[in-house]
Amino acid sequence: ATSPAADAAALVARRDRSLAEVQEHYYDAPPRIERGWREHLVGTDGRVFLDMVNNVTPLGHGHPKLADAVSRQLRRLNTNSRFNYGAVVEFSERLASLAPDPLDTVFLVNSGSEAVDLALRVALAATGRRDVVGVLEAYHGWTYGSDAVSTSIADNPNALATRPDWVHAVDAPNPFRGVHRGADAARYAPEAAARIQGLAASGRPPAAFIAETFFGNAGGIPLPDGYLAEVYAAVRESGGLAIADEVQAGYGRLGHWFWGFEQQGVVPDVVAVAKAAGNGYPLGAVITSREIAARFRSQGYFFSSTGGSPASSVAGLAVLDAFRDERLQENAAEVGGHLRRRLEELATRHPLIGAVHGLGLYLGVEFVRDHATLEPATEETAAVCDRLLELGIVMQPTGDHQNVLKTKPPLCLDRASADFFVDTLDRVLTEGW
Ligand code: PMP
Repeated sequence: ATSPAADAAALVARRDRSLAEVQEHYYDAPPRIERGWREHLVGTDGRVFLDMVNNVTPLGHGHPKLADAVSRQLRRLNTNSRFNYGAVVEFSERLASLAPDPLDTVFLVNSGSEAVDLALRVALAATGRRDVVGVLEAYHGWTYGSDAVSTSIADNPNALATRPDWVHAVDAPNPFRGVHRGADAARYAPEAAARIQGLAASGRPPAAFIAETFFGNAGGIPLPDGYLAEVYAAVRESGGLAIADEVQAGYGRLGHWFWGFEQQGVVPDVVAVAKAAGNGYPLGAVITSREIAARFRSQGYFFSSTGGSPASSVAGLAVLDAFRDERLQENAAEVGGHLRRRLEELATRHPLIGAVHGLGLYLGVEFVRDHATLEPATEETAAVCDRLLELGIVMQPTGDHQNVLKTKPPLCLDRASADFFVDTLDRVLTEGW
């Protein structure tokens, strides 16, 4: 019999032969993981890892009620959403009830990329326009439209050279290391507004402004106060729509807010949702107003064979039940607050930590070589992640410089797990890497 390590290596080799190269895997020599429980993953060698990156599974792994609900539904009926069954209506009603007025109308899809793509099509159809304004360093998905507005070079080194001409990107509103820092971050919003006005003046008024409502792909960074209010006002003034990508920030991850846009004190026109909504079961949605959704017909056709299927709708309902019964949003606030305080204390002792970003369980620990120049500690971040794996923690770098620990664990993370992460990170930073 081969060892678990040899088996894991052989599996990666087969994977590298059969899957497209671009479909990457974590780590050079990843453990083989076939099971999970809550915020833990279990290797086939019996080792248990703490999963600190899995923002797709707010309920955690192996959730029995979700598994039972979906398997019961698969035994009963699974079909497309043109049939008349209860779960798709119940899930749509519950999702819409979580959104503020006038967001009361739902389209159901299977993923974040599809949700963003559809959100863009909704805006194009509602306005009859074709230009879109996004922000630099963003990731919104892999489909044609969602990829077009994705400008992060972490995911695609050629991103900036290959965007279609209908995409216009404003500076990444990053108050920590963007072009405007600290108090100067107040300049991002008027600059973005001026860009929108400039496009309108040049005869290409945008159909939409799209952004994450909390800057996840730059490392869990809050947008400057008032940023979305000012940019949304500018795009609406020119007749366009405000699209919020809540694929990562939404669904309680921020703790005090269910939606990221609440943290900014705004209500978007179109919201893209996925990831957490199905806890890993394919489920995404676009939420908008009845009036905007009605205008979709002017140019659009929409039907998704599996979007809103009985099984995925039941998954969505089971996830919302678990959020309520297991107080996951409250846990994100409580354990996330504790985790953040402990990471901040760590930052006082380890100069590699340039900043601790984020809210709730949407955090980013940014590593720098120099606190004045903010030179990104990219290689160090990779080495720390490798060492964390050896010590039982799954963690990955994020951001355009790959120098931020992507701290987005399942929302069921308990205090002991949060402490284990901080204590282990403390050990790694003390040992050196
Ligand atoms: N938007 C954001 C902000 C995301 O982080 C992601 C996924 N990382 C997507 C959209 C795309 O979602 P999916 O992978 O489900 O297609």
